[in-house]
Amino acid sequence: MELPSLRDLYDLGAAQQPTWPDASEVDRVVDRLRRNPPLVFAGECDDLKAKLAAVTRGEAFLLQGGDCAETLEGATADNVRAKLRVLLQMAVVLTYAASVPVVKVGRLAGQYAKPRSSDMETREGVTLPAYRGDAVNGYDFTTESRVPDPQRLLDVYNSSAATLNLVRAFVTGGYADLRQVHTWNTDFVRSSPVGKRYERMAGDIDRALTFMKAIGADPEEFHRVDFHSSHEALVLEYEHALTRIDSRTELPYDVSAHFLWIGERTRQLGGAHVELMSRIQNPIGVKLGPTTTPDDAIALAQRLNPLNEPGRLTFITRMGAGRIRTVLPELVEKVTAAGVQVAWVCDPMHGNTFEASSGYKTRRFEDVMEEVQGFFDVHRELGTWPGGLHVELTGDNVTECVGGGESLLEEDLSHRYESVCDPRLNRVQSLELAFLVADMLSQ
Ligand code: PEP
Ligand code: MN
Repeated sequence: MELPSLRDLYDLGAAQQPTWPDASEVDRVVDRLRRNPPLVFAGECDDLKAKLAAVTRGEAFLLQGGDCAETLEGATADNVRAKLRVLLQMAVVLTYAASVPVVKVGRLAGQYAKPRSSDMETREGVTLPAYRGDAVNGYDFTTESRVPDPQRLLDVYNSSAATLNLVRAFVTGGYADLRQVHTWNTDFVRSSPVGKRYERMAGDIDRALTFMKAIGADPEEFHRVDFHSSHEALVLEYEHALTRIDSRTELPYDVSAHFLWIGERTRQLGGAHVELMSRIQNPIGVKLGPTTTPDDAIALAQRLNPLNEPGRLTFITRMGAGRIRTVLPELVEKVTAAGVQVAWVCDPMHGNTFEASSGYKTRRFEDVMEEVQGFFDVHRELGTWPGGLHVELTGDNVTECVGGGESLLEEDLSHRYESVCDPRLNRVQSLELAFLVADMLSQ
């Protein structure tokens, strides 16, 4: 199958692309990227697709999480381990408390490019190009830093490779061993009420493992986990350069991550992102906001998954707590009635962002919960499967979202607000969310 060229894609209309200052430099970078080794293998993407087919059938639950925007600076061992740790804790809570297999996907090792609502940003009377993620320009609010620099795409590739390498070592090298459940519950989380609840559960798991071992059962699954990478497929040069023909199947795969998604702002049916994603074999997602009509969703499914293959397509709905109960039912009902095979996943973050009086972008934990509850209620009502959760989180003790068991207040936001883009749940809030979702799942 011929892939469209980058120029063909641009001709279709490409939303949210950087304005690179020097085209010949972009060509050189793309050329280098095309020769770089794949970050993931096609066969691994197929494995994830098979797991997402189980999600589509209602036999598994997807947990997808990580930063809104990774930073090159933040690609450290401590940071990656902390994110992995909170995802492993959440996954074990969901698996144990709800007895459902959990498919684990990180929003990491490539989540470096951001769509923006405005091209420009004004601070104290100064207007500069908006920050579009470390893949494009710098976060510092200076003229130099905000100029898009294509060399950053190579930095992102290298950082993603390093992150993925570490993640692979952690998940297969003993860190994700189920006998480590207690050690994931470290420092500040351990002493929190939810940390104590987790500790009790971990004790139960320990006893179950000891029993299994005593009867001679010690399967491989106790010692390692499957973990996959994902990011928003946004910068066309990067995703195009990393789309390769797999020698085994002779079909194209985007080898920058196992799972790619199309954002709410780039899901135009005839646009470049939908076109490129329609050509690759990876499992993919599309974010659907509150203005999505059932016809839009059905048309997207036909374009992106013409063979209606379960596992290929995930709809990630992000409606907002106030709208989920009115908007989601018709969408799910009509898409289901059209016979579309799709996994439904809830992003309870992006419809619930607001600006605190201090100027920080934040989200209320209670709104996040309310959207998840609405998502479960709607699917339960319709007899469809609430297939997963897509969240922005960090393994650190940040103060970016208000509320939750620690009752973070708007005044607390300035203590430790580190996100360069959207506010993330901290580790305690993430674990609380996992227990609440586990309760919903097991009902
Ligand atoms: C995001 O996931 O960070 C994002 C920008 O989401 P959306 O496309 O749903 O707005
Ligand atoms: Mn975000």
